[in-house]
Amino acid sequence: GEESQKPHVTLLSSPGIGQLSRHHHRRTTDAPPAQLQLLNNNPTLPSDLHVIHLPHVDVACGDHVAIRLVHIVRESLRSLPSVLTSLQSCKPPLKALIVDPFCMEALDIAADHSVPTYLFLTASASFLALTIYFPMLHAEVEGDYGKIGERIFVPGCKPLWVDDLLPDVLMPEVLPLCNRIPLVKGIIVNTWEELEPVSLSAFKNHPFFVNLPTPTVHPIGPLTKNEDAGVESELLTWLDKQPRDSVVYVSFGSGGTLSAEQMTELAHGLEQSAKRFLWVARPPKANDASGSFFEAGSDGALTASYLPDGFLERTQGAGLVTVSWAPQVAVLSHPSVCGFVTHCGWNSVMESVVHGVAMVAWPLYAEQKMNARALVEMGVAVRPEVGEEGLVGRKEVERVVRMVVEGEEGKEIRRRVREVQGSAMEALACGGSSSECLNRLGKEWRAG
Ligand code: UDP
Repeated sequence: GEESQKPHVTLLSSPGIGQLSRHHHRRTTDAPPAQLQLLNNNPTLPSDLHVIHLPHVDVACGDHVAIRLVHIVRESLRSLPSVLTSLQSCKPPLKALIVDPFCMEALDIAADHSVPTYLFLTASASFLALTIYFPMLHAEVEGDYGKIGERIFVPGCKPLWVDDLLPDVLMPEVLPLCNRIPLVKGIIVNTWEELEPVSLSAFKNHPFFVNLPTPTVHPIGPLTKNEDAGVESELLTWLDKQPRDSVVYVSFGSGGTLSAEQMTELAHGLEQSAKRFLWVARPPKANDASGSFFEAGSDGALTASYLPDGFLERTQGAGLVTVSWAPQVAVLSHPSVCGFVTHCGWNSVMESVVHGVAMVAWPLYAEQKMNARALVEMGVAVRPEVGEEGLVGRKEVERVVRMVVEGEEGKEIRRRVREVQGSAMEALACGGSSSECLNRLGKEWRAG
């Protein structure tokens, strides 16, 4: 019947940062993006998911990555009207267009086609609140962020620290995106009611958000990718051989890199901790990324020449280093893994929490410092202290790594992350807050 029929919705996604940087390096414009191949060859995705590839466009690089994304998307959107027209003639017809923040300009095109647009944000509700409030804040200080003071008081939310948000979050270039948010039909956000009750309640109850008015916010998380399910990887085979709850996973996301000095400290710290580790160690950022940083080792494996001399030999058996990419969700769900040194990208945070893995919060850019602070407040992460010259020293690395794996000090963090994991499971279970929220969205789309 009507009720059981699946509504037809379309997700419009900008090319991810990962793809963008690869594109930037190699300047290949015609190769289908890696994500598309993943989507096309992924047996875990439903068979009624159809992937449409908007023509890829090359735009001049140079701007901030966020701005570049907006330009790329703007060019790609030229083909959206005809795509929407054909989707509207499908059975059942298209009921909603769901866009990521860099695709907000699709709003006008969708409106021309009378298709409601929903924003999908893979960030915290607290970040969403800041984003909606930002144009007002910008106007108030006349674009001079030095005038804000130490704290930002987003209406109805916990205060934020300006230092956590400069220079990556508070920037005038994102104002056009922020200004459009109130125009969408709804906002889907990867968090859940019980994780962020304060911000989520502000959207519903605080006069500022109510009067804007703020579109309905739908917290349906934690959503984590399942494309790692069933992957085969040397890393997982190695993890199989390690004792339960013994390994620390170290990764700074799809774009994060450390300086050469910082990598050296991290390497020594891991070694001195005498804990097992799995480290996704990208080339340091001070040097230009190129093939010369990788040498074929005697066994044919890649050896990272930017690690301290003898590091790989000395840590052999206890540690594993990969230079490119790990199937992160499979790693975090592995029983041997018990700690995660993370850059605090929101996806990584959600993946860690879902699998009950305690975190070492090591933020690098974007809104990661704000996330790191929230994680420490929540009690699920320890934050290493940054010492002289902005470096986390090896002793400090050793301390925090030991802390998440063993000992009294870290016990509370490990207990607390399991508690939050439990809350996530409840939210996703039948009758839970996120599951109910998703049901309501489904109803809205079937009725719409
Ligand atoms: N990821 C992965 N393997 C890696 C690095 C990253 O699978 O070696 C995935 C990770 O599971 C997450 C995403 O890439 O889903 C990174 O998103 P996040 O928001 O944490 O950080 P960003 O890359 O956007 O900075």
